[in-house]
Amino acid sequence: MYPVKENLHRVLDTLPAEGVLLVAISKYHPADYVMAAYEEGQRVFGESHEQEIREKHALLPKDIEWHFIGHLQTNKVKYIVPYISMIEAVDSLKLLREIEKQAAKADRVVKVLLELHIAEEATKYGLTLTACRELLDGGEWRQMSHVQICGLMMMASNTDDEAQIAQEFQQAADFFDEVKARYFADDDHFCERSWGMSDDYPIALRHRSTMVRIGTAIFGPRVY
Ligand SMILES: *Cc1c(COP(=O)(O)O)cnc(C)c1O
Repeated sequence: MYPVKENLHRVLDTLPAEGVLLVAISKYHPADYVMAAYEEGQRVFGESHEQEIREKHALLPKDIEWHFIGHLQTNKVKYIVPYISMIEAVDSLKLLREIEKQAAKADRVVKVLLELHIAEEATKYGLTLTACRELLDGGEWRQMSHVQICGLMMMASNTDDEAQIAQEFQQAADFFDEVKARYFADDDHFCERSWGMSDDYPIALRHRSTMVRIGTAIFGPRVY
């Protein structure tokens, strides 16, 4: 078996003792890898496909907090809303509305993050800063009592240029401050900055990440 436990502790040793949550990204890895991390005390896991998270949720202990980190189609929302702990990658008002609708039906409040598009790659999902401001200025989210907007999420460009990665994280951190001040000054729930993956989380931590999403460094390379 892949050394999941050793890797998990190696990663945890590099995180600050407080203030940063490790989301262990288990996509494409088998349930027994999740279980190995669970046995070491890890409780928060992230997945990016509805089918896969559904299967793992059914198999694995019910005190796991599942984060959905992938692009979510509106027609899939109803399947994950009953048990999901957080939907990290909300990138449209349409998706937010559907989460509100399904969460109301399930009689629960679902935590979400707004996903920003800051990276250079055209392929990355997410709201541009302008689109994010527009969504928040629209104000419809204020009437949604079954979604709780807890912060922002983003992915940096996939590049070796550390200065560029740092600049993107800093842009996200600055934007967080703007959004916090303009829309969430009185809302303590809006406090999360989800950035940093296996290759770039040390940089993300220097730019005020509160949530790192780490897969490969714990579970090894994914076989797609
Ligand atoms: C897969 C994925 C990760 C984890 O990436 P690693 O490089 O394996 O740590 C983090 N965030 C998102 C959105 C992902 O899709």
